[in-house]
Amino acid sequence: MENLLKKVSENARITVEEALSLKDASIFDFARLAQARHRAMNLGNEVSYIVNRMINYSNDCFAKCKFCAYHARAGVIEKFFLTDDEILEIAKRSEENGAVQIMLQGGLSKDVSLDWACSILRKIKAQCPKMFLHVFSPSEIFVFARNANIGISECVRRLKEAGADSIPGAADMLVEKIRKDVSPLKTSVEEWKSVICALKENGMYSSATMTFGMGETFEDRLEHLNLVRDIQDELGVFKAFIAWPLAPENTRMSHIERVSAPEFLKTIALARIFLDNINVVQSGWLTEGMKVAELAIMMGSNDMGGVLMDEMVVKSAGIQNSTTALGMRKTIENAGKIPFARDGFYKKLRQ
Ligand code: SF4
Repeated sequence: MENLLKKVSENARITVEEALSLKDASIFDFARLAQARHRAMNLGNEVSYIVNRMINYSNDCFAKCKFCAYHARAGVIEKFFLTDDEILEIAKRSEENGAVQIMLQGGLSKDVSLDWACSILRKIKAQCPKMFLHVFSPSEIFVFARNANIGISECVRRLKEAGADSIPGAADMLVEKIRKDVSPLKTSVEEWKSVICALKENGMYSSATMTFGMGETFEDRLEHLNLVRDIQDELGVFKAFIAWPLAPENTRMSHIERVSAPEFLKTIALARIFLDNINVVQSGWLTEGMKVAELAIMMGSNDMGGVLMDEMVVKSAGIQNSTTALGMRKTIENAGKIPFARDGFYKKLRQ
């Protein structure tokens, strides 16, 4: 442990084997290492948040992932498609309420075309020209490209031209054996990576995410983190790393126990310790609540993510956490840090 602490304090990279040695480490050891990495990376005393709005435009999805309660076939939310007018109305109200970023997230559907995706992006940008559009997911983009019978890079180019500013990572767990089990109809690891490469080709950014607590091992989590770190070395496309535990309620994985708060916090710390090439690690308030998020900040997180007004995917699994910009600021201050509002590129808007 002391050797590892010295290495991390010097901001040296740790190997997968060294990270594996932390498998049974205490939460206090994780905290020491994560804080050492945070200091060594010169990340300062500030923690950011963004006022944004998630627009879940449809829950029609052929993928039927085992861990998802949002898609219509899960039987929790009736099948819906928002109309363009409904989406524009939500975007307008969000802007009036201070949102600087909109996220669009749906399912994988044969009825959602690339032409529609480009058209709604253009309409939102025409109505709210300053709004940052952090939209769709690698899996949605993969399906848009397949339905349009074009290459992924061309698909990304068209989305960017229509107004997409960046794309959420939505990576789930980047371990093929797990994907085959829980989401066999969604993108494979290679397909996901091909979209990330297409983002790079088109000068776009993404976030690296990880959904954990799906029955994977500590080794599997490290396989995921190692792939993220390698891709970041190669492409530098990730602005942030965001990890959240599976909310199994209402899903076909409801027999799985939710990850405990200490396990969640250790995973946030592990990300901070291992990912020496990604400055921003988010705190996961949406699934864990604000009190655990305060602790996540002490485990190396330096971004609270967005207020995500009216997010539906996590709520469909029975989780009811919500917050405001004020709530974000309070949480950050409770953790002894200085809050600031940011934009979609993680740039400071105001203190
Ligand atoms: S996680 Fe996404 S791709 Fe999977 S079923 Fe849910 S909406 Fe569809």
